Amino acid sequence: MAVYQHDVLVVGAGLAGMRATLAAQEAGADVAMITKVHPVRSHSNAAQGGINAALESRGDNWDDHAYNTVKGSDYLGDQDAIEIMCQEAGPAVVELEHMGVVFNRDENGRLGTRHFGGQEVARTFFVADITGQALLHALYEQIMKYNPRVYEEWFVTSLVIEDGKCCGVVALELMTGQIHLIKAKAVILATGGTGRCFEPSTNGLVVTADGQGLAYQVGVPLMDMEMVQYHPTTLKGNGVLMTEGARGEGGYLLNSEGERFMKTYAPNMMELASRDVVSRSEQTEINEGRGIDGCVLLDLRHLGRELIETKLAYINEVAMDFANVNLAEEPCPIRPGNHYEMGGIKTDVHGVTSMPGLYAAGECANVSVHGGNRLGANSLLDTVVFGKRAGIHAADYSRQIEQINVPDSIVSLDEGRIKSFFDKKDNTDTPATIRLAMGQAMNEGVAVFRDEAGMQAAYKTILELKDRYKRLGVHDSGKIFNTNLLFAFELGFMLDTAETICVSALARKESRGAHYRTDMPDRDDENWMKHILVQNTGEDLPTVDFSPVTVTRWEPQIRSY
Ligand SMILES: Cc1cc2nc3c(=O)[nH]c(=O)nc-3n(C[C@H](O)[C@H](O)[C@H](O)COP(=O)(O)OP(=O)(O)OC[C@H]3O[C@@H](n4cnc5c(N)ncnc54)[C@H](O)[C@@H]3O)c2cc1C
Repeated sequence: MAVYQHDVLVVGAGLAGMRATLAAQEAGADVAMITKVHPVRSHSNAAQGGINAALESRGDNWDDHAYNTVKGSDYLGDQDAIEIMCQEAGPAVVELEHMGVVFNRDENGRLGTRHFGGQEVARTFFVADITGQALLHALYEQIMKYNPRVYEEWFVTSLVIEDGKCCGVVALELMTGQIHLIKAKAVILATGGTGRCFEPSTNGLVVTADGQGLAYQVGVPLMDMEMVQYHPTTLKGNGVLMTEGARGEGGYLLNSEGERFMKTYAPNMMELASRDVVSRSEQTEINEGRGIDGCVLLDLRHLGRELIETKLAYINEVAMDFANVNLAEEPCPIRPGNHYEMGGIKTDVHGVTSMPGLYAAGECANVSVHGGNRLGANSLLDTVVFGKRAGIHAADYSRQIEQINVPDSIVSLDEGRIKSFFDKKDNTDTPATIRLAMGQAMNEGVAVFRDEAGMQAAYKTILELKDRYKRLGVHDSGKIFNTNLLFAFELGFMLDTAETICVSALARKESRGAHYRTDMPDRDDENWMKHILVQNTGEDLPTVDFSPVTVTRWEPQIRSY
């Protein structure tokens, strides 16, 4: 075993992790990044459609962006945090451009925008349909100038807590199977979303709720976990994302009768209503018999071949490869599918969690800018704005910590867990079978439409699977790149996180944002303008608590599009 030490350790090398790393580097801290995959293979790389900002120089106004975000959140987002995000968005996007992101430009050579859902004007900046990749590569280049230590293909198995403070992580080096201790004065979790708790999902196979699970294990509350976004346009079959940019460029949604059915549900904004609204509308069409084989159609033919092949080339390729559809010639079958977790590790606007020394940013965190429903292209924005803030604060905090007192023997706990997985290798259960059962149960009971019985059934399944997990063994006892062992650890994080989603969903006795209960279809502002906090206190079941929503300027109103 080796022991390493840094001022700030960033867990995750997606956009949030990279932006935090760069900020902490610029603040003069000794920063290291740890990531279970090569940095540019993080899920941020798959982001397609764009990043939102209201640029004053284009006559736009961040107040309007903030109001659209508050309304999009179904009034569950904390308005102080939303104001910060929208105010800092313009400078953040210009900064990315200066770092070398080659944003699309309009015919006058100015930064180009496309129209995204839930917003009255076009304020989404983009690089064709590969925006995430463009951003991630530019940030990676900036970080590399400082020549940081990157623990690449290392997997964090637990957080180290001493005297009530987070002081590092224990990690498995995948190449060697060795367990290591990395001490740090501050740790920033930037581990991404929860997508793979569901099956199917638009998320990469590496998106397994590790950060949420790590934080939950040490008693840090997860907030608003019931708010799970189903994206309206995921491909039939495998659930691959077809960017909202397709509708932003003017695409239509059609039912089996060839009708643009959104006119019934959102007569003003049509296909560009917010995601929760469009997903529910599609699912209603499908449930009422106006779908085609469990799907509706995304029709882009009228946009013309040239636009499709330049601005939507990636999804055209995906449609061709996986559905045998040429978007210039035929409509494509799509349906709502798991995409994003609005909830996460509760933080303030500097990424600070309830545990001293522990920060969180990006999709694993909940600063509360998305509330009940995230607007498309607000997540990339969240990662860069709050990643940067967390990096600055953590660097500052690390200067106040003189030394880290952690006994090296702490790693024996995780070595023991690995041994116990190997000892149970005669059990024939596998991570894959449990994971599939979990994903299907979640997709059945905690999806677009929910009710008490369905959510209870999903929760019951999760508890049974957690019980099976206790007996799970790892059959491959090899040291080098033991993916079987990796999947076993990831599954533990996912099961804990799936439980928090079920518990939060059962606790919220109303419909709001993505949490739509057919048995309680109304929003109840009198009783439920509050966040739900789920916490592990060491008992068998999590505890549930509540905290008020911060309202600065926008009182809740009826939400129509
Ligand atoms: C297909 C797709 C398209 C999207 N398009 C858009 C879009 O156009 N606009 C938009 O705003 N949003 C979009 N989103 C959402 C957005 O991309 C994500 O919310 C955001 O990129 C998440 O970034 P992140 O930095 O928080 O996490 P990620 O990019 O997921 O990075 C997580 C990092 O954590 C590391 N990690 C995780 N667990 C561990 C562990 N145990 N040990 C070590 N390392 C670990 C991983 O290796 C990785 O480096 C899209 C999402 C998907 C799935």
